[in-house]
Amino acid sequence: MVSMDTLVSLCKRRGFVFQSSEIYGGTGSCWDYGPLGVELKNKIKHVWWRDFVQRRADVVGLDASILMHSTVWKASGHVDHFTDPMVDCRECRHRFRADQLDETSWTHYCPATKGNKFTIPPGEACTHCGVRRSLCPDCGKGELTAPRQFNLMFKTFMGPVEEDAAVTYLRPETAQGIFVNFENVQQSMRRKLPFGIGQIGKAFRNEITPGNFIFRTREFEQMEIEYFVNPHDTVEGRPADEYWHDRWIEDCLAWFQRYGVQEENLRLHEHDRAELAHYSKRTADLQYRFPIGWSELMGIANRTDFDLKQHAKWSGKALTYFDEERREHLVPYVIEPSAGVDRALLAFLADAYREEEVRGEKRVVLRFHPELAPVSVAVLPLLKKRDDIVRTALAIRDELSRRFTTVYDDTAAIGRLYRRQDEVGTAYCVTVDVQTVGDPDKGETADGKVTIRDRDSMEQIRVGTAQLDAVVGDLLGGKLWGEVAAQVGRA
Ligand SMILES: [Zn+2]
Ligand SMILES: [Zn+2]
Repeated sequence: MVSMDTLVSLCKRRGFVFQSSEIYGGTGSCWDYGPLGVELKNKIKHVWWRDFVQRRADVVGLDASILMHSTVWKASGHVDHFTDPMVDCRECRHRFRADQLDETSWTHYCPATKGNKFTIPPGEACTHCGVRRSLCPDCGKGELTAPRQFNLMFKTFMGPVEEDAAVTYLRPETAQGIFVNFENVQQSMRRKLPFGIGQIGKAFRNEITPGNFIFRTREFEQMEIEYFVNPHDTVEGRPADEYWHDRWIEDCLAWFQRYGVQEENLRLHEHDRAELAHYSKRTADLQYRFPIGWSELMGIANRTDFDLKQHAKWSGKALTYFDEERREHLVPYVIEPSAGVDRALLAFLADAYREEEVRGEKRVVLRFHPELAPVSVAVLPLLKKRDDIVRTALAIRDELSRRFTTVYDDTAAIGRLYRRQDEVGTAYCVTVDVQTVGDPDKGETADGKVTIRDRDSMEQIRVGTAQLDAVVGDLLGGKLWGEVAAQVGRA
């Protein structure tokens, strides 16, 4: 498994992720997506939206405002309950989550060894004096304050006056934007249960201890679906909410595998009673084996009718659904598959990373699924001194870029250009050579063909420029390299 340091360094060097405001020393746990990072992120969002919203007859989309009526967060429980217990060090002023103090290694000045400084593993006692951590884990000297509850929502003011009545929050989850629009969407789209509303958007949490690169950040992007079901229905002999919960768990697991995440790096984690949110009937996390260990990739929760009932209570609107068969008004249950875009990106990145040996040399390659590769096609001229080769390569780049993410690069010899594209996961390289354009001085005629190189197998095929757009389309549309190569013949 690749280390986090290796990924962070690759991401910076190759333009995937930069630290936010780096020239000013950086902003705590905020990250900027560079030219390749934004392509990767957009492609993840695009395939998620296509697969879970556009291609499903039972799901529609929404893009709700980030700023909402402040009562939304009272109704949802976030104002009162979205808190973490926080402690401060009286010496170094560092701040910690009280419930995570023993999850990090701690600094200890040991009285049994004339005050020598030791770093002791999380939760363990000093092997010299037997003492356990009671002081600040960072400086090892300061007393910690008593825990205080700290609300994780970012507070701000709506309008020009900074007064209590104008207080609102940056949304800590996209879900509430869906719940408050339940009636609008259901009625305008004439939906019958079960149906879902999907949304992709930013959310904000003022985490006390963010970290691990883009794994936990204060500003992040969510891909969420609220799938509304009739709790009185049964499907295959089971309550509809339980049936659909299982279906969504399967669909989400299959989705990550479909885009290349290896099965052995994914597992399911069922929340036990202590982990379960008070409104949830059952929650299952999809965990990924990140460089930091098994951690949550996404959650799939059965939120019951809690949210709609809360909003009905606080808004005075009914927020019910009329079941025509049973002639009754009911409050739907909701199944919520909720994924973080940034976390998904980190998982796809870690999973794609390989170090291989090719003819005695190390090759770093990101084996992204072709549809997720930040660059789909790189067009490379074999000789940059030949005007006709360069002109042809640039024309091909222009043509392909109408449908695919395409780059042109002539800043090194071909071997090095291939390695550079491998390292950022470019799916295919198209090379224009002397044969493509011919060589009148030697009396060689042009064959009008270019080479396509497959990133993973490094095999090459030769296709006519007129076919290129269609062949690349097939490859990115899911046709296997082997099939295409068999059709056109390997180079
Ligand atoms: Zn301290
Ligand atoms: Zn000690």
